[in-house]
Amino acid sequence: VSAAWHRVGAFELHPVVEFEGPRMAPQQLLPELDQDRLADLLPRLPAGCVDAASGFLVTSVHTWVVRGPDGLTVLVDTCFGNRKPRPGFPGFHMQETDWLARLGALGVERGQVTHVINTHLHLDHVGWNTELVNGSWRPTFPAARYLMPRRELAAGPSGAAGWNRDCFEDSIAPVVAAGLVRPVEPPHRVASGLTLVAAPGHSPGMMVLAVADGGGGGVLVGGDPLHHPLQLLAPDLSTRFCEDTALAASTRRSLLSRCADEGWAIAATHLVSPRFLAVQREGNAFAPT
Ligand SMILES: [Zn+2]
Repeated sequence: VSAAWHRVGAFELHPVVEFEGPRMAPQQLLPELDQDRLADLLPRLPAGCVDAASGFLVTSVHTWVVRGPDGLTVLVDTCFGNRKPRPGFPGFHMQETDWLARLGALGVERGQVTHVINTHLHLDHVGWNTELVNGSWRPTFPAARYLMPRRELAAGPSGAAGWNRDCFEDSIAPVVAAGLVRPVEPPHRVASGLTLVAAPGHSPGMMVLAVADGGGGGVLVGGDPLHHPLQLLAPDLSTRFCEDTALAASTRRSLLSRCADEGWAIAATHLVSPRFLAVQREGNAFAPT
């Protein structure tokens, strides 16, 4: 039995968690963060963002399920997946989790999923696109359209960062071969009230899903516009996984400005506490409301 779904306008949202916990030291994730600045920022973070024992940042890998009118069932980002060789990411290499059972426990059968959105083609956002069946990778959601950024799909593995190349063969090519992929150019309207908007920098074609509340605001779901609430307080800090750190920072600032000024929350893939981050301006940066 799961906690209540989050309601946003005509939609209901629920996370399906694959991993949650302390994962990295702050400077491991954010190489430009120095010790003095960290000491200044730490007391201003929301509760639960940093593991007291290790000092590691608490992060998550989860999928957002978005349910809407007429059976619309959207998965935003699909985590690392099961049994995938990821030697560069030891914690996730060949892992097996109960992610699919957790999705089922929400009352979502795989055949009911109408859309899978990969906000960008990084290995922690495409894993459950496929599963291993009798030795070959098959689409996990055979009735879904898989929406992917056209630019990253066109670039393929040779255009991806080296640490990210493994996922194309086992998580992207099989759904392309099955004819399920729709390349997307943002802004792209998925359905009434659901729009994919451009958020480049972390990766060249990244998008986030704007879920409108019908009153002018809503929530920006999925992707990696920020990895941790530290980047709300210090939006100039990009992660070591951001492919264009300057563009990632300018995208982060513009999305957070929209959140603060227009009543949007941010529900990025790796945020834990809170998963819905409501934002206000604070000086030249931002803070949780
Ligand atoms: Zn990510």
